[in-house]
Amino acid sequence: MPEKLIIIGSGPAGLTSAIYAARADLEPLMIEGFERGGQLMLTTDVENYPGFPDGIMGPELMEQFRKQAERFGTRIVSSDVTAVDVAGHPFKVWVGDDVYEGDAVIISTGASARWLGIPGEERLRGHGVSACATCDGFFFRDKHVAVVGGGDSAMEEATFLTKFASKVTIIHRRDEFRASKIMARRALENPKIDVIWDTTVEEVSGDDTVTSITLRDVTTDATSELAVDGLFMAIGHTPNTSVFAGHIDLDEAGYILTEPGGTMTSVPGVFAAGDVVDKVYRQAVTAAGMGCQATIDAERWLEAGTD
Ligand code: NAP
Repeated sequence: MPEKLIIIGSGPAGLTSAIYAARADLEPLMIEGFERGGQLMLTTDVENYPGFPDGIMGPELMEQFRKQAERFGTRIVSSDVTAVDVAGHPFKVWVGDDVYEGDAVIISTGASARWLGIPGEERLRGHGVSACATCDGFFFRDKHVAVVGGGDSAMEEATFLTKFASKVTIIHRRDEFRASKIMARRALENPKIDVIWDTTVEEVSGDDTVTSITLRDVTTDATSELAVDGLFMAIGHTPNTSVFAGHIDLDEAGYILTEPGGTMTSVPGVFAAGDVVDKVYRQAVTAAGMGCQATIDAERWLEAGTD
């Protein structure tokens, strides 16, 4: 017998899907992936998730989601999906040599922030190095922070960070921004923002938290140190969809396309929720909301019959 519902991915979207699905007697099977819990596992304090007035650590929040999903009977497989076949019913999902069959599938594999891969970056993640100004900007009140990137995200993050930081330095590897003119202008006109052009970040330093970064001028190859309290990456995200390419419709950046106003993908019975769809909001609470929508959509679709 196929599963009624297979959920792929275990961030806020997938776990919320599971909570709703388990309570609706869909007996969901979740394939949680090796990066269990998703991007929140890489953050420290989460102060904007409703219901936690004193804040909560990202991993702790995900553990609570998981407990709630398991409490109602979600079964969890702790591996990555390696292949899918959604051309016919039941849908097939492989984890290595094991195949799982499902009447409906919800994809919530998220997106991964791109990182520079420089020394110090991983060690200081959550301790001054971040890829989310909305999440972590609040911790940099009256501090000097650097933002890496030249796209709309970098402009948006830099502008947002000026609410807290005393100074924001954008570091861009070229001499012009990729960002839209209006967003670039807004950043450039902000008196708290300055820009260092033609420059890359080579290293991030600090014992417990970030204290400085090493810069390299790409035109002269000269290196220098800049004292900063935080380093925000805004060099784009990569949706985790490689396994679905060719099976469901993706946009040109690899995000899953869903029907307007709903969570159904180009394959009826396959739904998607969270950052794997959403490149605009990217918040735990919005992903959780979409996870709920996906389960309600899946439930209605299953009730209507799959023929
Ligand atoms: P993006 O447009 O791909 O820009 C990434 C930026 O990071 C580029 O300036 C790129 O430099 C730089 N970069 C990439 N890899 C780098 C590396 N290894 N080292 C240094 N710099 C690196 O990504 P995004 O800004 O996240 O935007 C993604 C999409 O979302 C875009 O379509 C954007 O318009 C949209 N978006 C819209 C809004 C809004 O309208 N409110 C806000 C955010 C994002 P180069 O320029 O040299 O390639």
